[in-house]
Parts: sequence; C-alpha cells; structure tokens
Amino acid sequence: MTIHDITLTIHRSLVVWPMSPTVALSHLSHQAKGEDATVTYMSLNVHTGTHVDAPRHFLAGQSTVETLDLDVLVGPALVVDARSIERLTADALASLNIPPGTERLLVLTRNSELWNDNTHPFAEDYVGVDASGAQWLIDNGVRLIGVDYLSVAPYDELEPPHTLLLGADVVIVEGLDLRGIKPGEYQFVCLPLKIADSDGSPARAILIET
Ligand SMILES: [Zn+2]
Repeated sequence: MTIHDITLTIHRSLVVWPMSPTVALSHLSHQAKGEDATVTYMSLNVHTGTHVDAPRHFLAGQSTVETLDLDVLVGPALVVDARSIERLTADALASLNIPPGTERLLVLTRNSELWNDNTHPFAEDYVGVDASGAQWLIDNGVRLIGVDYLSVAPYDELEPPHTLLLGADVVIVEGLDLRGIKPGEYQFVCLPLKIADSDGSPARAILIET
C-alpha cells in the first residue's frame, strides 16, 4: 500500500493567515533541564496548516467541527490538475473533465509550489474557488473540496464561496500539500481533531493509492 502524506508540517515558522499569531510551541518540562519527561505545549489558530473548516466558520449558529460527517472525510477522491488555472470559476471547473458522481475533489494548483518553502510570506495571489465555482461544486454533487492553500476562496472574494459551500454542507479542506501527487483516483483520509464548538481544526490528510 502506498500512502502519500499531503499534510503540512506544523512548526513555529509555518506561514499563517494575515494578522494571525504564528504557531507557538514551548516546553512545560524538558529532559534537557533534568526533568523526568519532555512535554510540549502548543497554541495555534485552528485554521493552521492543513485544516478543515466547519459551517460555523462563516455561518453563525451552524454546526462545528466535531460533528462533521466522517463518511465525507474518508473515501474515494479525485485529484485534478489545475496548474494552468488562475481562478477556479464554474467554467474553469467544467473544463477539468471531472467525472459525474465525484464526491471528493482535491484541486492541484500552482499553489502547491508555495510549499517548497512553507515559511514564505503569505501569498495573496493564490488560486481559489470563486462564487461561481462554489456553486458549480454544489450543483455537481461534490461533498468535499480540498485545496492547496490556506483558503478555498480567493483573497479578494473570501466570504461568498465559503458561505455557499458551508451552507450546502460541503466540507472544506484547506492547506493540502499536493506537490508530486499525480492526478487521479485515491482513497482519501482526513481526520480533524475533535474540538468542541470549533469552527475548524488542523487535520492529518493522506492519499492512499488504489
Ligand atoms: Zn479555514
């Protein structure tokens, strides 16, 4: 079985959303200081690195990350090559020849090259799904959309695509590292932490070759 880890490594210098504090890691105790055990303490934005958005992120009062359906987060997924596309509009998605019935769609864009240096300054010009693209995904029965930068939506159009997708119970996985992944069918596993009342959570995401 070949497993591809498509998760970003969490560390202090990992690029984060503008204005967000960076990841903080410290030690509550450390064997280097003569203590019995080493215990790390971490604080971070739940939208750090590879993570899942819950409806609550943009829709007040809606469901939170610990209640997301695992049946959606685990299952067959299609990786499509969109490296020549600058904005994931409805027309752009329609051009990718996505087979009907695709429920989990992971979009490989030029964004993934940014992960060659995951300490890079936040890149506002990343490729995202606009409102027309979000509606296309909903209309075509996509239940999970995975993208390779820190937001599903373009930086100049953050709210409408999120609201459309989350309002239609489409699970959004952001911050995937799809470098070196060949387009095609895989088994996808993405498990966010079970954090009560949270609008999102870091997750481990893998692709298994079928
Ligand atoms: Zn997010």
